[in-house]
Amino acid sequence: MVRETGFYDLLGVSPKASLDEIKKAYRKLALKYHPDKNPNEGEKFKLISQAYEVLSDPKKRDLYDQGGEQAIKEGSMAGGESPMDIFNMFFGGCGRMQRERRGKNVVHQLGVTLEELYNGSTRKLGLQKNVICEKCEGYGGKKGAIEKCSTCKGRGVQVQVQQIGPGMIQQIQSMCSDCQGQGERFNSKDRCKNCNGHKVERKKKILEVHIDKGMKDSQKITFHGEGDQEPGLEPGDVIIVLDVKQHPVFQRRDDNLIMKMKIKLVEALCGFKKTIHMLDNRLLLINSPPGQVIKPNDLKCIHNEGMPVYRDPDEKGLLIIQFEIEFPDKHWLPEHMLPDLERLLPVRDHVMMSDDMEEVDLCEVDYEKQKRNHSGEAYDEDEGPRHGVQCQTQ
Ligand SMILES: [Zn+2]
Ligand SMILES: [Zn+2]
Repeated sequence: MVRETGFYDLLGVSPKASLDEIKKAYRKLALKYHPDKNPNEGEKFKLISQAYEVLSDPKKRDLYDQGGEQAIKEGSMAGGESPMDIFNMFFGGCGRMQRERRGKNVVHQLGVTLEELYNGSTRKLGLQKNVICEKCEGYGGKKGAIEKCSTCKGRGVQVQVQQIGPGMIQQIQSMCSDCQGQGERFNSKDRCKNCNGHKVERKKKILEVHIDKGMKDSQKITFHGEGDQEPGLEPGDVIIVLDVKQHPVFQRRDDNLIMKMKIKLVEALCGFKKTIHMLDNRLLLINSPPGQVIKPNDLKCIHNEGMPVYRDPDEKGLLIIQFEIEFPDKHWLPEHMLPDLERLLPVRDHVMMSDDMEEVDLCEVDYEKQKRNHSGEAYDEDEGPRHGVQCQTQ
């Protein structure tokens, strides 16, 4: 059975993606294609929202995995929410009831490093926003001088009549551009010169974003009432969403930090000392004493050296080290010395030889070569099928 993956493809995640991965993917794409930032990508925004709506709901996701988009449509489970509602719910926008009386929320993504989340930091963010015009206090012109818009006769809309065929006309209604749909306006001499009658002006506002120790990827920092101002409306919020960049050494899992460490075989067997450069620039010295043996993929941890716990930063998670052992290359030791080494190592198991055994070669695995040989079969059947991995003479 071929499974449909269109919704996964839209979000750029694998069909096995976790809910967190789906949320992260949606977050990135929704901010990128939001009509505020990308007015020409409305269709894309809609598709992303639809995919997210289905994949973020376990029931709908199941249904989709089994029957594809058709099943969602038949189950009448699609299109419940508008793309904007999904976006607002996701980013903690205000509810339906409030929205009428409040301005829009503005969502910004802020790229941060793991170091910033470890140490805490303050970032200054310059935003352009609409503020009530200082000169006219949001009135738009000289008090009392407002008059009915002559273009739309106070209706706020313009109606255009178009002939689209013999005897057929079409009426197109659009917002009156002279009064911005207000129905009234100032004539040019009474209009506020500062805002040109728009009641608001564009101003740069610097927001100080405090990134607290232990904050997480996707965490939101809300500045209440810092959205665009509009006369008669309570301004919406500015919502900052943290987007953590990948770190070359540490990976974060909840409050734990995970890192890989390569050690040499001699270190794995005879003990070692190593340093770790921490996110606050401290150097940790770790010690595996003689007698300790570290095996490939062994996990060891250091207490209280992980990420600080949000709102309780003196408390920290674990620093978990996953070991990789670097073995020496072939022929690193002259063959005549191998018995000396063997005497020092734990005793090997001996195989009892018997007549019913078939001795075979141990070869390198080369999937590419295997693939080439298999595709050759189709054209060249006389040679007979070749199975398995081809041996290389060494
Ligand atoms: Zn003004
Ligand atoms: Zn008008």
